[in-house]
Amino acid sequence: GSVFAHLVQAPEDPILGVTVAYNKDPSPVKLNLGVGAYRTEEGKPLVLNVVRKAEQQLINDRTRIKEYLPIVGLVEFNKLSAKLILGADSPAIRENRITTVECLSGTGSLRVGGEFLAKHYHQKTIYITQPTWGNHPKIFTLAGLTVKTYRYYDPATRGLNFQGLLEDLGAAPAGSIVLLHACAHNPTGVDPTIQQWEQIRQLMRSKGLMPFFDSAYQGFASGSLDTDAKPIRMFVADGGECLVAQSYAKNMGLYGERVGALSIVCKSADVAGRVESQLKLVIRPMYSSPPIHGASIVAVILRDKNLFNEWTLELKAMADRIISMRKQLFEALRTRGTPGDWSHIIKQIGMFTFTGLNPAQVSFMTKEYHIYMTSDGRISMAGLSSKTVPHLADAIHAVVT
Ligand code: PLP
Repeated sequence: GSVFAHLVQAPEDPILGVTVAYNKDPSPVKLNLGVGAYRTEEGKPLVLNVVRKAEQQLINDRTRIKEYLPIVGLVEFNKLSAKLILGADSPAIRENRITTVECLSGTGSLRVGGEFLAKHYHQKTIYITQPTWGNHPKIFTLAGLTVKTYRYYDPATRGLNFQGLLEDLGAAPAGSIVLLHACAHNPTGVDPTIQQWEQIRQLMRSKGLMPFFDSAYQGFASGSLDTDAKPIRMFVADGGECLVAQSYAKNMGLYGERVGALSIVCKSADVAGRVESQLKLVIRPMYSSPPIHGASIVAVILRDKNLFNEWTLELKAMADRIISMRKQLFEALRTRGTPGDWSHIIKQIGMFTFTGLNPAQVSFMTKEYHIYMTSDGRISMAGLSSKTVPHLADAIHAVVT
Protein backbone atom coordinates (compact mmCIF):
# COMPACT_ATOMS: atom_id res chain seq x y z
CA GLY A 1 0.00 0.00 0.00
CA SER A 2 1.00 3.66 -0.46
CA VAL A 3 2.73 5.46 2.38
CA PHE A 4 0.14 8.19 1.74
CA ALA A 5 -2.85 5.85 2.00
CA HIS A 6 -3.86 7.39 5.33
CA LEU A 7 -4.51 10.81 3.74
CA VAL A 8 -8.06 12.10 3.68
CA GLN A 9 -9.30 14.18 0.76
CA ALA A 10 -8.74 17.85 1.66
CA PRO A 11 -11.63 20.26 1.12
CA GLU A 12 -11.49 22.70 -1.81
CA ASP A 13 -10.31 26.22 -1.00
CA PRO A 14 -13.50 28.04 0.06
CA ILE A 15 -12.99 30.78 -2.56
CA LEU A 16 -11.39 28.86 -5.43
CA GLY A 17 -13.81 25.98 -4.80
CA VAL A 18 -16.69 28.20 -5.94
CA THR A 19 -15.21 28.22 -9.45
CA VAL A 20 -14.74 24.44 -9.35
CA ALA A 21 -18.46 24.03 -8.64
CA TYR A 22 -19.37 26.63 -11.28
CA ASN A 23 -17.34 24.85 -13.96
CA LYS A 24 -19.27 21.63 -13.30
CA ASP A 25 -22.68 23.29 -13.78
CA PRO A 26 -24.03 22.78 -17.35
CA SER A 27 -26.71 25.52 -17.05
CA PRO A 28 -26.51 28.23 -19.78
CA VAL A 29 -27.56 30.93 -17.30
CA LYS A 30 -24.93 30.10 -14.70
CA LEU A 31 -23.12 33.06 -13.18
CA ASN A 32 -19.82 33.04 -11.29
CA LEU A 33 -19.64 35.85 -8.74
CA GLY A 34 -17.12 34.06 -6.56
CA VAL A 35 -13.92 34.83 -8.36
CA GLY A 36 -11.97 37.94 -7.39
CA ALA A 37 -10.93 38.79 -10.91
CA TYR A 38 -12.12 41.50 -13.27
CA ARG A 39 -14.42 40.60 -16.16
CA THR A 40 -15.54 42.74 -19.11
CA GLU A 41 -19.18 43.55 -19.96
CA GLU A 42 -18.97 40.38 -22.08
CA GLY A 43 -17.90 38.36 -19.06
CA LYS A 44 -14.37 37.82 -20.40
CA PRO A 45 -11.00 38.19 -18.62
CA LEU A 46 -9.22 41.40 -19.63
CA VAL A 47 -5.60 41.92 -20.66
CA LEU A 48 -4.94 45.66 -20.48
CA ASN A 49 -3.76 47.39 -23.66
CA VAL A 50 -0.77 48.85 -21.82
CA VAL A 51 0.22 45.36 -20.74
CA ARG A 52 0.12 44.16 -24.36
CA LYS A 53 2.24 47.16 -25.41
CA ALA A 54 4.75 46.56 -22.61
CA GLU A 55 5.01 42.89 -23.54
CA GLN A 56 5.60 43.83 -27.18
CA GLN A 57 8.43 46.15 -26.10
CA LEU A 58 9.97 43.32 -24.09
CA ILE A 59 9.72 40.90 -27.02
CA ASN A 60 11.25 43.43 -29.45
CA ASP A 61 14.21 44.00 -27.14
CA ARG A 62 16.72 41.41 -28.39
CA THR A 63 19.20 42.35 -25.66
CA ARG A 64 16.87 40.94 -22.98
CA ILE A 65 18.20 37.94 -21.13
CA LYS A 66 16.60 35.53 -18.72
CA GLU A 67 19.27 35.24 -16.06
CA TYR A 68 18.21 34.89 -12.43
CA LEU A 69 17.07 38.10 -10.81
CA PRO A 70 18.76 39.05 -7.53
CA ILE A 71 17.07 37.70 -4.35
CA VAL A 72 15.25 41.04 -3.96
CA GLY A 73 13.95 40.91 -7.54
CA LEU A 74 14.08 43.57 -10.25
CA VAL A 75 15.60 46.63 -8.62
CA GLU A 76 13.99 49.20 -10.93
CA PHE A 77 10.59 47.57 -10.33
CA ASN A 78 11.14 47.84 -6.58
CA LYS A 79 11.95 51.55 -6.74
CA LEU A 80 8.97 52.29 -9.00
CA SER A 81 6.63 50.25 -6.78
CA ALA A 82 7.65 52.19 -3.68
CA LYS A 83 7.05 55.44 -5.56
CA LEU A 84 3.64 54.24 -6.75
CA ILE A 85 2.36 53.35 -3.30
CA LEU A 86 4.04 56.05 -1.17
CA GLY A 87 3.96 58.90 -3.71
CA ALA A 88 6.88 60.38 -5.65
CA ASP A 89 7.46 63.03 -2.96
CA SER A 90 7.44 60.61 -0.03
CA PRO A 91 9.86 61.56 2.77
CA ALA A 92 10.67 57.87 3.31
CA ILE A 93 11.89 57.54 -0.30
CA ARG A 94 13.76 60.86 -0.21
CA GLU A 95 15.54 59.81 2.97
CA ASN A 96 16.24 56.36 1.56
CA ARG A 97 14.80 54.69 4.68
CA ILE A 98 12.65 52.15 2.88
CA THR A 99 13.47 48.75 1.53
CA THR A 100 11.33 47.17 -1.20
CA VAL A 101 11.62 43.59 -2.40
CA GLU A 102 9.77 41.99 -5.30
CA CYS A 103 7.60 39.10 -4.10
CA LEU A 104 5.09 36.64 -5.54
CA SER A 105 2.10 38.95 -5.80
CA GLY A 106 0.20 40.12 -2.72
CA THR A 107 0.11 36.69 -1.09
CA GLY A 108 3.88 36.23 -1.34
CA SER A 109 4.51 39.74 -0.03
CA LEU A 110 2.32 39.08 3.01
CA ARG A 111 4.05 35.78 3.67
CA VAL A 112 7.59 37.18 3.40
CA GLY A 113 6.60 40.14 5.60
CA GLY A 114 5.00 37.75 8.10
CA GLU A 115 8.07 35.52 8.30
CA PHE A 116 10.36 38.54 8.68
CA LEU A 117 8.27 39.83 11.59
CA ALA A 118 8.08 36.38 13.22
CA LYS A 119 11.89 36.22 13.14
CA HIS A 120 12.89 39.78 14.00
CA TYR A 121 10.02 41.70 15.63
CA HIS A 122 9.50 41.54 19.38
CA GLN A 123 5.72 41.07 19.22
CA LYS A 124 4.47 37.88 17.54
CA THR A 125 0.74 38.64 17.51
CA ILE A 126 -0.99 40.00 14.43
CA TYR A 127 -4.52 41.39 14.58
CA ILE A 128 -6.65 40.92 11.45
CA THR A 129 -10.12 42.26 10.71
CA GLN A 130 -13.22 40.25 11.53
CA PRO A 131 -14.10 39.12 8.84
CA THR A 132 -11.20 39.15 6.38
CA TRP A 133 -9.88 37.50 3.22
CA GLY A 134 -9.79 33.78 4.03
CA ASN A 135 -6.10 33.41 3.25
CA HIS A 136 -4.92 35.97 5.84
CA PRO A 137 -5.12 33.76 8.95
CA LYS A 138 -3.45 30.86 7.14
CA ILE A 139 -0.61 32.99 5.74
CA PHE A 140 0.28 34.54 9.08
CA THR A 141 -0.11 31.36 11.14
CA LEU A 142 2.26 29.53 8.80
CA ALA A 143 4.62 32.51 8.90
CA GLY A 144 4.95 31.87 12.63
CA LEU A 145 2.74 34.62 14.03
CA THR A 146 -0.20 34.29 16.42
CA VAL A 147 -3.38 35.50 14.73
CA LYS A 148 -6.09 37.40 16.62
CA THR A 149 -9.00 39.41 15.27
CA TYR A 150 -10.34 42.90 15.83
CA ARG A 151 -13.92 43.98 15.25
CA TYR A 152 -14.45 45.65 11.89
CA TYR A 153 -17.82 44.95 10.29
CA ASP A 154 -21.24 45.61 11.76
CA PRO A 155 -23.85 43.27 10.23
CA ALA A 156 -26.66 45.52 11.51
CA THR A 157 -25.55 48.54 9.48
CA ARG A 158 -23.57 46.58 6.89
CA GLY A 159 -20.95 49.24 7.57
CA LEU A 160 -17.92 49.80 9.80
CA ASN A 161 -18.01 48.92 13.50
CA PHE A 162 -15.72 51.83 14.27
CA GLN A 163 -16.31 51.81 18.02
CA GLY A 164 -15.54 48.08 18.22
CA LEU A 165 -12.42 48.58 16.10
CA LEU A 166 -11.10 51.32 18.39
CA GLU A 167 -11.88 49.29 21.51
CA ASP A 168 -10.15 46.16 20.22
CA LEU A 169 -7.04 47.94 18.95
CA GLY A 170 -7.02 49.97 22.16
CA ALA A 171 -6.99 46.73 24.17
CA ALA A 172 -4.27 45.04 22.06
CA PRO A 173 -0.89 44.59 23.83
CA ALA A 174 1.56 47.38 23.01
CA GLY A 175 3.61 46.67 19.90
CA SER A 176 1.14 44.19 18.38
CA ILE A 177 1.06 43.97 14.59
CA VAL A 178 -2.17 45.14 12.94
CA LEU A 179 -3.10 44.13 9.42
CA LEU A 180 -4.92 46.97 7.64
CA HIS A 181 -6.62 46.70 4.25
CA ALA A 182 -5.33 49.83 2.49
CA CYS A 183 -8.57 50.19 0.51
CA ALA A 184 -11.51 48.14 -0.80
CA HIS A 185 -11.72 45.86 2.23
CA ASN A 186 -12.19 42.20 1.29
CA PRO A 187 -14.80 40.75 1.76
CA THR A 188 -16.97 43.61 3.09
CA GLY A 189 -16.26 46.53 0.73
CA VAL A 190 -16.37 48.74 3.84
CA ASP A 191 -13.51 51.22 4.32
CA PRO A 192 -12.91 53.76 7.11
CA THR A 193 -13.28 57.43 6.13
CA ILE A 194 -10.14 59.58 6.05
CA GLN A 195 -11.14 61.07 9.43
CA GLN A 196 -11.52 57.57 10.87
CA TRP A 197 -8.14 56.57 9.40
CA GLU A 198 -6.60 59.53 11.19
CA GLN A 199 -8.10 58.33 14.50
CA ILE A 200 -6.84 54.80 13.84
CA ARG A 201 -3.38 56.21 13.07
CA GLN A 202 -3.27 58.24 16.28
CA LEU A 203 -4.41 55.30 18.40
CA MET A 204 -1.94 52.90 16.77
CA ARG A 205 1.01 55.26 17.04
CA SER A 206 0.20 56.10 20.66
CA LYS A 207 0.28 52.38 21.51
CA GLY A 208 3.24 51.53 19.28
CA LEU A 209 1.12 49.11 17.22
CA MET A 210 2.89 48.06 14.01
CA PRO A 211 0.87 48.73 10.82
CA PHE A 212 1.05 46.08 8.11
CA PHE A 213 -0.89 47.30 5.07
CA ASP A 214 -2.33 44.88 2.56
CA SER A 215 -2.72 46.86 -0.68
CA ALA A 216 -4.30 44.45 -3.16
CA TYR A 217 -6.59 46.98 -4.87
CA GLN A 218 -4.76 50.30 -5.34
CA GLY A 219 -6.73 52.26 -7.95
CA PHE A 220 -9.49 49.68 -8.06
CA ALA A 221 -11.60 51.22 -5.31
CA SER A 222 -11.94 54.87 -6.26
CA GLY A 223 -10.40 54.72 -9.73
CA SER A 224 -7.51 56.89 -8.47
CA LEU A 225 -4.12 55.42 -7.49
CA ASP A 226 -3.37 58.35 -5.17
CA THR A 227 -6.74 58.37 -3.41
CA ASP A 228 -6.55 54.66 -2.67
CA ALA A 229 -3.02 55.01 -1.25
CA LYS A 230 -3.96 57.88 1.07
CA PRO A 231 -4.28 55.86 4.32
CA ILE A 232 -0.79 54.38 3.84
CA ARG A 233 0.71 57.78 3.08
CA MET A 234 -0.81 59.19 6.30
CA PHE A 235 1.03 56.54 8.31
CA VAL A 236 4.30 57.16 6.44
CA ALA A 237 4.01 60.94 6.78
CA ASP A 238 4.19 60.74 10.59
CA GLY A 239 7.71 59.33 10.38
CA GLY A 240 6.80 55.98 11.96
CA GLU A 241 7.55 52.51 10.68
CA CYS A 242 5.23 50.20 8.73
CA LEU A 243 5.06 47.34 6.24
CA VAL A 244 3.20 47.39 2.92
CA ALA A 245 2.31 44.42 0.71
CA GLN A 246 1.44 45.44 -2.87
CA SER A 247 -0.19 43.36 -5.59
CA TYR A 248 -0.41 44.08 -9.32
CA ALA A 249 -2.90 41.25 -9.84
CA LYS A 250 -6.03 43.39 -9.92
CA ASN A 251 -4.90 46.89 -10.88
CA MET A 252 -2.78 45.74 -13.85
CA GLY A 253 -4.70 42.52 -14.48
CA LEU A 254 -1.48 40.53 -13.98
CA TYR A 255 -3.10 37.83 -11.81
CA GLY A 256 -1.18 34.83 -13.11
CA GLU A 257 2.15 36.65 -13.42
CA ARG A 258 2.37 36.73 -9.61
CA VAL A 259 3.92 40.15 -9.32
CA GLY A 260 3.94 42.20 -6.14
CA ALA A 261 6.21 43.92 -3.65
CA LEU A 262 6.89 44.12 0.06
CA SER A 263 8.09 47.46 1.40
CA ILE A 264 9.33 48.09 4.91
CA VAL A 265 9.49 51.73 5.91
CA CYS A 266 12.12 52.29 8.62
CA LYS A 267 13.33 55.19 10.72
CA SER A 268 16.72 55.48 9.02
CA ALA A 269 18.56 54.38 5.87
CA ASP A 270 20.98 52.45 8.03
CA VAL A 271 18.21 50.31 9.56
CA ALA A 272 16.53 49.86 6.15
CA GLY A 273 19.75 48.41 4.77
CA ARG A 274 20.01 45.88 7.57
CA VAL A 275 16.32 45.00 7.24
CA GLU A 276 16.86 44.28 3.54
CA SER A 277 19.83 42.03 4.32
CA GLN A 278 17.60 39.99 6.63
CA LEU A 279 14.72 39.88 4.13
CA LYS A 280 17.12 38.20 1.71
CA LEU A 281 17.72 35.47 4.29
CA VAL A 282 13.95 34.89 4.48
CA ILE A 283 13.53 34.76 0.70
CA ARG A 284 16.56 32.72 -0.39
CA PRO A 285 15.50 29.39 1.15
CA MET A 286 11.82 30.01 0.28
CA TYR A 287 12.05 30.43 -3.53
CA SER A 288 15.54 31.83 -4.09
CA SER A 289 14.51 34.74 -6.30
CA PRO A 290 11.26 35.99 -7.88
CA PRO A 291 10.16 35.68 -11.54
CA ILE A 292 11.33 38.22 -14.11
CA HIS A 293 8.49 38.58 -16.60
CA GLY A 294 5.69 40.25 -14.62
CA ALA A 295 8.03 42.67 -12.88
CA SER A 296 9.50 43.65 -16.26
CA ILE A 297 6.02 44.43 -17.60
CA VAL A 298 5.25 46.59 -14.57
CA ALA A 299 8.60 48.41 -14.82
CA VAL A 300 8.03 49.24 -18.51
CA ILE A 301 4.63 50.74 -17.70
CA LEU A 302 5.65 52.65 -14.58
CA ARG A 303 8.79 54.16 -16.06
CA ASP A 304 7.13 55.52 -19.24
CA LYS A 305 4.99 58.63 -18.81
CA ASN A 306 2.67 57.81 -21.72
CA LEU A 307 2.13 54.19 -20.78
CA PHE A 308 1.59 55.19 -17.17
CA ASN A 309 -1.13 57.67 -18.17
CA GLU A 310 -2.74 55.09 -20.42
CA TRP A 311 -2.73 52.63 -17.51
CA THR A 312 -4.50 55.09 -15.20
CA LEU A 313 -7.26 55.47 -17.81
CA GLU A 314 -7.72 51.72 -18.23
CA LEU A 315 -7.71 51.29 -14.46
CA LYS A 316 -10.31 54.01 -14.05
CA ALA A 317 -12.48 52.34 -16.69
CA MET A 318 -12.40 49.07 -14.72
CA ALA A 319 -13.27 50.86 -11.46
CA ASP A 320 -16.06 52.80 -13.18
CA ARG A 321 -17.60 49.66 -14.66
CA ILE A 322 -17.70 48.11 -11.20
CA ILE A 323 -19.32 51.22 -9.73
CA SER A 324 -21.88 51.19 -12.54
CA MET A 325 -22.71 47.53 -11.73
CA ARG A 326 -23.41 48.59 -8.14
CA LYS A 327 -25.85 51.24 -9.34
CA GLN A 328 -27.55 48.86 -11.77
CA LEU A 329 -28.01 46.12 -9.18
CA PHE A 330 -29.32 48.58 -6.61
CA GLU A 331 -31.78 50.00 -9.17
CA ALA A 332 -32.90 46.52 -10.26
CA LEU A 333 -33.78 45.60 -6.66
CA ARG A 334 -35.57 48.93 -6.17
CA THR A 335 -37.72 48.45 -9.27
CA ARG A 336 -38.61 44.92 -8.13
CA GLY A 337 -39.63 46.31 -4.74
CA THR A 338 -37.32 43.81 -3.04
CA PRO A 339 -37.82 44.11 0.73
CA GLY A 340 -34.95 45.47 2.80
CA ASP A 341 -32.41 48.27 2.64
CA TRP A 342 -29.94 47.56 -0.17
CA SER A 343 -28.13 50.89 -0.06
CA HIS A 344 -24.95 49.12 1.11
CA ILE A 345 -24.58 47.88 -2.48
CA ILE A 346 -23.81 51.42 -3.60
CA LYS A 347 -22.05 52.48 -0.39
CA GLN A 348 -19.53 49.65 -0.33
CA ILE A 349 -16.40 50.03 -2.42
CA GLY A 350 -14.06 47.92 -4.55
CA MET A 351 -14.52 44.57 -6.17
CA PHE A 352 -16.93 43.01 -3.69
CA THR A 353 -20.33 43.55 -2.17
CA PHE A 354 -21.03 41.91 1.14
CA THR A 355 -24.70 41.33 0.48
CA GLY A 356 -25.78 40.18 3.93
CA LEU A 357 -27.24 36.99 2.42
CA ASN A 358 -26.73 33.98 4.69
CA PRO A 359 -25.32 30.56 3.71
CA ALA A 360 -28.81 29.06 3.30
CA GLN A 361 -29.84 31.89 0.97
CA VAL A 362 -26.60 31.55 -1.00
CA SER A 363 -27.20 27.85 -1.38
CA PHE A 364 -30.78 28.49 -2.60
CA MET A 365 -29.51 30.95 -5.22
CA THR A 366 -26.93 28.46 -6.43
CA LYS A 367 -29.43 25.62 -6.63
CA GLU A 368 -32.36 27.49 -8.17
CA TYR A 369 -30.59 30.24 -10.16
CA HIS A 370 -27.12 28.76 -10.85
CA ILE A 371 -25.50 31.79 -9.23
CA TYR A 372 -22.17 31.03 -7.53
CA MET A 373 -20.63 33.04 -4.67
CA THR A 374 -18.82 32.41 -1.40
CA SER A 375 -21.10 31.17 1.39
CA ASP A 376 -20.61 34.41 3.36
CA GLY A 377 -22.75 36.19 0.74
CA ARG A 378 -19.86 38.02 -0.89
CA ILE A 379 -20.39 38.75 -4.58
CA SER A 380 -17.80 40.00 -7.06
CA MET A 381 -19.24 43.06 -8.75
CA ALA A 382 -16.55 42.66 -11.43
CA GLY A 383 -18.18 39.38 -12.46
CA LEU A 384 -21.50 41.12 -13.24
CA SER A 385 -22.62 42.77 -16.49
CA SER A 386 -25.66 44.74 -17.62
CA LYS A 387 -26.97 41.50 -19.12
CA THR A 388 -26.65 39.47 -15.92
CA VAL A 389 -27.84 42.05 -13.36
CA PRO A 390 -31.57 41.20 -13.91
CA HIS A 391 -30.92 37.48 -13.29
CA LEU A 392 -29.08 38.25 -10.03
CA ALA A 393 -31.78 40.72 -8.95
CA ASP A 394 -34.47 38.09 -9.63
CA ALA A 395 -32.58 35.58 -7.50
CA ILE A 396 -32.05 37.98 -4.59
CA HIS A 397 -35.70 39.03 -4.80
CA ALA A 398 -36.85 35.42 -4.75
CA VAL A 399 -34.66 34.45 -1.81
CA VAL A 400 -35.74 37.31 0.48
CA THR A 401 -39.48 37.24 -0.29
N1 PLP B 1 -5.10 40.57 -0.08
C1 PLP B 1 -6.39 40.63 -0.34
C2 PLP B 1 -7.28 41.34 0.61
C3 PLP B 1 -6.90 40.04 -1.49
O1 PLP B 1 -8.21 40.12 -1.74
C4 PLP B 1 -6.03 39.37 -2.37
C5 PLP B 1 -6.56 38.68 -3.55
O2 PLP B 1 -7.69 38.31 -3.67
C6 PLP B 1 -4.67 39.35 -2.04
C7 PLP B 1 -4.24 39.96 -0.90
C8 PLP B 1 -3.58 38.70 -2.83
O3 PLP B 1 -3.78 38.41 -4.12
P1 PLP B 1 -2.56 38.04 -5.05
O4 PLP B 1 -1.67 37.13 -4.30
O5 PLP B 1 -3.19 37.42 -6.23
O6 PLP B 1 -1.87 39.34 -5.36
